[in-house]
Parts: sequence; structure tokens; C-alpha cells
Amino acid sequence: MMLKIAVSRCLLGEAVRFDGNSKPCAAVRELLAARAELVGVCPEVEVGMPVPREPVDLFGDPSGTRMIGARTGEDWTRRLDAWARERINDLLDQGIAGAVLKARSPSCGVGDAPVHPAGSGDPVAGDGLFALALRRAAPGLPIARDEDLGEEAGVEEFLARARAYACGRAR
Ligand code: SF4
Repeated sequence: MMLKIAVSRCLLGEAVRFDGNSKPCAAVRELLAARAELVGVCPEVEVGMPVPREPVDLFGDPSGTRMIGARTGEDWTRRLDAWARERINDLLDQGIAGAVLKARSPSCGVGDAPVHPAGSGDPVAGDGLFALALRRAAPGLPIARDEDLGEEAGVEEFLARARAYACGRAR
């Protein structure tokens, strides 16, 4: 059976980014798509943000990370967290065996999204809100950044991890 992999929709070539553009990833569209069933997900659009939209920033807080509109200050944290819980349950019910997420995004970034410290100081690298929720809900699920896939070898290495995860789940 073909593996199912969740993928940030902008990497598939969908124009869902805040600036109205996409971020097509050749490794996803040409290599991964030939070997796995891809399930697109865009946290920001699916939670109700328009395209185009104001960018959002992450702010560290003792109670967690908050997602705030850069111009309006609108706080999306609770809505995104609530949406992510349901969407991740749905993705896990569908049997995804891995995810490929857009690097440095405040929603999809895996360990490389800029998080502004409370008060002042330079941003530190952290998880986007969707990536964080996915990691917490499914420890061990292989998650790659688009930039990690590179070419053939990177895609094969990721798929090997996804196959191992799927086999472990089936036991
Ligand atoms: S990085 Fe994530 S939230 Fe941003 S446009 Fe791509 S899929 Fe949507």
C-alpha cells in the first residue's frame, strides 16, 4: 500500500502563502509524489486566514508560544491550536506515515521558525504552532523540512523512515 505523507500545501505549488504566492518544491512534486500519496495541509488558510494576508509572528511566553498578526496584533493562537488538534487527529486517522513541512514558517517550521522572546532580544529558533502540535500528538512520526529532502537520496532516506514508522504502527 502506498504511504500517505502530509505536506505543506505551498510546497505542492498552491498559492496559499501570506503574499499570495506558492513555494513549489521539486523534491516533493517530482520525487515524493511519485512514491507516496500526498495529503496537502495549510494551517493558516484552513484556520480561516485569507490569501493574501498579513504575516504572523511567534512570541515566546511562559505559557507557550503565541501567534500574532504583524500589523493588527490579532492573536491566532487559540484558534490555530484548536484547529490543529482536530486536523492532526484527522491526518492520523487517515494513516499518515510522515510529514514534509515548509521551513521557517510560523505555522509549519520544524525547529527553525523565529520565535521572539517576551520583552526584547533576538528571535530564537523554535517550532511553528502546527509543527509543534504534530510533534506532540505523534512522537516518532518522521517530519522533514522541505530543505532537508534535497534530491533523490534525501527523499529515499525520508521514505525509509516513513516506512519504518508505518511498519511499527501496524505491529
Ligand atoms: S508554510 Fe504552512 S501555513 Fe504557510 S503557506 Fe505554506 S502550508 Fe500554509
